[in-house]
Amino acid sequence: MLSNSLIELDRAHLIHPVASYRGHEASGVRVLKSAKGATVTDASGHQLVDGFAGLWCVNAGYGHESIVAAAARQMQELPYATGYFSLGSEPAIRLAAELAQRAPGDLNHLYFTLGGSDAVDSTVRFIRYYWHARCEPQREHFISVEQGYHGSSTVGAGLTALPAFHAGFGVPLSWQHRIPSHYVYRNPAGDDGDAIIAASLAALDAKIEEIGGPQRVAAFYAEPIQGSGGVLVPPKGWIKAMRARCKAHGILFVADEVITGFGRTGPLFACSEDDIVPDLMTVAKGLTSGYVPMGAVFMSDHVYDTIADAAGSSAVGHGYTYSAHPVSAAVALEVLHLYENGLLTNGAKAGARLMTGLQSLRDHPLVGDVRGRGMLAAIELVTDKQRKTPLPAAAEPAKRIFERAWKNGLVIRAFPTGVLGYAPPLCCSESDIEAIIERTAKTLDDTLADAEVRAALQH
Ligand code: PLP
Repeated sequence: MLSNSLIELDRAHLIHPVASYRGHEASGVRVLKSAKGATVTDASGHQLVDGFAGLWCVNAGYGHESIVAAAARQMQELPYATGYFSLGSEPAIRLAAELAQRAPGDLNHLYFTLGGSDAVDSTVRFIRYYWHARCEPQREHFISVEQGYHGSSTVGAGLTALPAFHAGFGVPLSWQHRIPSHYVYRNPAGDDGDAIIAASLAALDAKIEEIGGPQRVAAFYAEPIQGSGGVLVPPKGWIKAMRARCKAHGILFVADEVITGFGRTGPLFACSEDDIVPDLMTVAKGLTSGYVPMGAVFMSDHVYDTIADAAGSSAVGHGYTYSAHPVSAAVALEVLHLYENGLLTNGAKAGARLMTGLQSLRDHPLVGDVRGRGMLAAIELVTDKQRKTPLPAAAEPAKRIFERAWKNGLVIRAFPTGVLGYAPPLCCSESDIEAIIERTAKTLDDTLADAEVRAALQH
């Protein structure tokens, strides 16, 4: 039984990420107590299938003894080593080499961070340095995509294009710009892939023109699949076309694979499947499967060499105390081993089952769209399929759908837009996926019974 004092202590002292502080105080915390495989158990003993792998990060699933052992071994042997003063640790060096070997193209250089936000932040610093080194300091403008998410640092939140991350925070900054998303289900260009790609290319060209030409633009950022914007899967060929257009303009292309990396969409990196080699790539989450914090920037040869040559014998002034942390690196090495020894294969099978299962719910009166790739998927709910009318705000989709799913024994991400997000661990068994689908069906029926939803359906 969860002691009331824990709830009170949380209410009084713990600030939760991306929460309504007053709303959270009113509802109180749900404390998770333990987890194994794809199942999490809360402090009252309620068991749930984690259809969201924590925060799309526990790709390997919970309770892997070998990951725990790798962390414990490293903590005993060498819990910390700085990378400053040209020092280092064996797991960090090995991890960089292993990842470089598997990365697309010439992304041969790794800079390790603590998570995704500081990985994105680091790319902006590196890119500015790169353009100074190339004697083009006027290339100071950055372009990202509406509905994109690139973290919660001031710079990253400015590249992020979700209103909650801007309002009241003084971002985006004057040099941060956006183009419309590909959002296939609601694209004004219709749902034809080629038309959407053409519209995105035209929007990019127009934005570059508005900024003052390619010689003013430093970089373009895109997620292979937009995650926090509502699991928006671009039409096939979108990312390849955008990458090629950036190259034609001489603009650096950054692929943000913080969610899509490490088996989430199938292979280790979604970029490989999309057949592109970005100039820089960011990862986090699945890198350590959430067991300990770590992120990384992959840097291509030409970006690295330009920075290295320009700095010469001077220090490139960017670094953290915890860059390339040996315990995180040891965990990441073990997680990589698990991915390549069964988890990626299982994830691909489970992902196909997940998509078939979610597609089987298409006829439900509230389901407007089902989309996804691999173990990353979403259902978008509407009250009118023809007009694609979103659920009314009065139905509090984010809060109430999450609560209903929770009661039904399922953790999902419920977005305020009425989108249900899925990113289960890659270790999911057939019965885990069946449970996700059955409990989703029940959650949809419960949502259909909501008074506000019924009222909207009748209009
Ligand atoms: N980039 C993308 C695409 C993300 O989805 C996220 C987090 O969800 C981030 C960056 C930020 O990562 P973190 O929350 O580890 O700082």
